[in-house]
Amino acid sequence: MTINPAKTCQPIGAMYAALGVHGCLPHSHGSQGCCSYHRTALTRHYKEPVMAATSSFTEGSSVFGGQANLLQAVETIFAVYNPDIIAVHTTCLSETIGDDVNQIVQKARDDGKVPAGKYLIHCNTPSYVGSHITGYSNMVASLVKYFSAKSVTKKNQVNIISGWVEPSDMREIKRIAAEMGAKIVLFPDTSDVLDAPMTGKHIFYPKGGVTIPELISTGDSKRTIGLGPFCTEDAAIQLDNKCRVKFDILEIPIGLKATDAFITALSRAAGVKVPDSITDDRGRLVDMITDMHKYLYGKRVALYGDPDILVPLTEFLLTIDMKPVYIVSGTPGKRFEPAMENLLSKKVPESKYKNGERADMFLMHQWIKQEPVDLLIGNTYGKYIARDENLPFVRLGFPIMDRVGHSYFPTVGYIGAMNLLTKILGVIMEKEDNACSEEKIELVM
Ligand code: SF4
Repeated sequence: MTINPAKTCQPIGAMYAALGVHGCLPHSHGSQGCCSYHRTALTRHYKEPVMAATSSFTEGSSVFGGQANLLQAVETIFAVYNPDIIAVHTTCLSETIGDDVNQIVQKARDDGKVPAGKYLIHCNTPSYVGSHITGYSNMVASLVKYFSAKSVTKKNQVNIISGWVEPSDMREIKRIAAEMGAKIVLFPDTSDVLDAPMTGKHIFYPKGGVTIPELISTGDSKRTIGLGPFCTEDAAIQLDNKCRVKFDILEIPIGLKATDAFITALSRAAGVKVPDSITDDRGRLVDMITDMHKYLYGKRVALYGDPDILVPLTEFLLTIDMKPVYIVSGTPGKRFEPAMENLLSKKVPESKYKNGERADMFLMHQWIKQEPVDLLIGNTYGKYIARDENLPFVRLGFPIMDRVGHSYFPTVGYIGAMNLLTKILGVIMEKEDNACSEEKIELVM
């Protein structure tokens, strides 16, 4: 039995990935309730209106199939909302009744329901397997399947497939690449889509997102870097098989070592040097770690969420001599436990980690009750544990529904690591100040 899962449903990931394509309207092939939930989850986290359409299944379509609904939807959406692309994902319901969405998409094209210059793509996201991360990965792989093409000339550019991170993280990855003089195609790219500036005018399709010509050109790139194996490996393999673009799969660049690995890989793939400005960012991070080390050393940490974030985060906590003792991810996958064993077996042999169906928030809470920790890191759902156990709590990952601002400040790269460190030390010191006796309170720490 799963109590309080440390994951959410597949289509949410597919919807988030689709929003990282410019002019794209995600479409949920199922009932209105599913689509409403997916949009709500994304809207609550990003504090932006998330647009998506639905096939609006009724009892009839649930029995006889949703082909007629989807064909009608495609016609209506192109006529009324005029997107460049409709990205269809399935739901539990349409998967259970066995709708062949591949065939329906082809029929929509054959019947002339997709106007010239417009696109209709799809991926399957049955939510009774995997998690939102699986859905994200499936939609990203689908972008490669439908768009990437190989021409006769290679382009002097590197593909970066982004794992599930905040729009601000995607912007930071682009900033780092520009600083290094590396030409990249980042996909998906939700910067300027889910953190678009307030201008006073409603723009249905914000200016951000990878464009379709850019997606097509990924087949001519020199190399691909996937950030986060759970989210990006399938797409990178597909791109290699389809267009012979070799790839490296790295961790999401959270923390010192993972960012070092990303900068080195990008420098090699793009054939550019690492500029002094990036080395200086790194130096400032190392300086900050040195200044904070005495407060962080040996502190026990519990963390939960998505595997692509937990692995580099664990590595970063070890780098700064904290002790990640409990780690839980609801996303299944064989890579997680070996990656954790590799990181933790020598440095924190007493650590406990688990992923998949039985790795839930209840389990994490039980572990904390058996032997307490000094810090909790994860999404909004940890607030009840933090409150019950009086723990300093850093909100990180998806979803964060009870705070504003997380999607505007990066966690990736050296600057992102500095943001993260500031949050970690902030909550630990705050508890110290609030809990210590009157005579022990210090002005200077
Ligand atoms: S029915 Fe399935 S697809 Fe719909 S919201 Fe629930 S888990 Fe997600």
